[in-house]
Parts: sequence; structure tokens; C-alpha cells
Amino acid sequence: MDREKRREIRQRLYKSQSGRCIYCQDKMFNFKGQQIHPKRATIDHVVPTIKLEKKKVSWVGFFGLKFNFVVCCQQCNRSKSGQPWQEWVLEKFGDEEVSKVLTRFCELVISEEGREAW
Ligand SMILES: [Zn+2]
Repeated sequence: MDREKRREIRQRLYKSQSGRCIYCQDKMFNFKGQQIHPKRATIDHVVPTIKLEKKKVSWVGFFGLKFNFVVCCQQCNRSKSGQPWQEWVLEKFGDEEVSKVLTRFCELVISEEGREAW
């Protein structure tokens, strides 16, 4: 995926998520405490791409992958790293947050589905 496309995705997800991290719900700041520009928001893969490759998920084409993107803050991205999001959210934020994050994923997919082609 080219750089311009990634910037566009970042910007759109940032808008859909109201500038908030999908996981912790904080406004997205960089390590200097400055608000992140929408084009520089950190993209996270809901299902780590390595897992998709291992499962040889051939049906995951452009649209499949589209819904695998969220944006999150740098702190969460760094902390989560390659862990499955469910395990990481459970460990970091507790049981109740897992279903809240899942709800946000669903809401995001619905809002993105409603948009025209990327
Ligand atoms: Zn966060």
C-alpha cells in the first residue's frame, strides 16, 4: 500500500474515531504530549498481519484488510506490540474493557461500511 493511501486511511480512521485511541479512548498525543496530526496517527492491525499470513487467509483482499485497520495512540501501540488485542486489553485495562473495545470495533466497521470506496 502506498504512502498516500496510508495517510488517507489514517485521516479517515482518525475522523471516524473522533481523534481518540480505539483502545484507551484518550486523545491521540505523541510522546512529547502534542496532539497528533490525523495523517500521522498510528495504524494498528486488529488481527496481526502475521496471523493472517500464517492462516493463509487468501480471501483477505482489499476490503477484508480495510476493516482490519484502526488508529491508536503511540503508547498503546507500543505496549500492545504484536499481542492479540483481546489478551492485551484484558491484561492492561481489565475484563469490562474487552467488550467495550469490541463494540468500538463494530461501530467503526459500520461507519466505514457506510462510506464510499476508499
Ligand atoms: Zn491508547
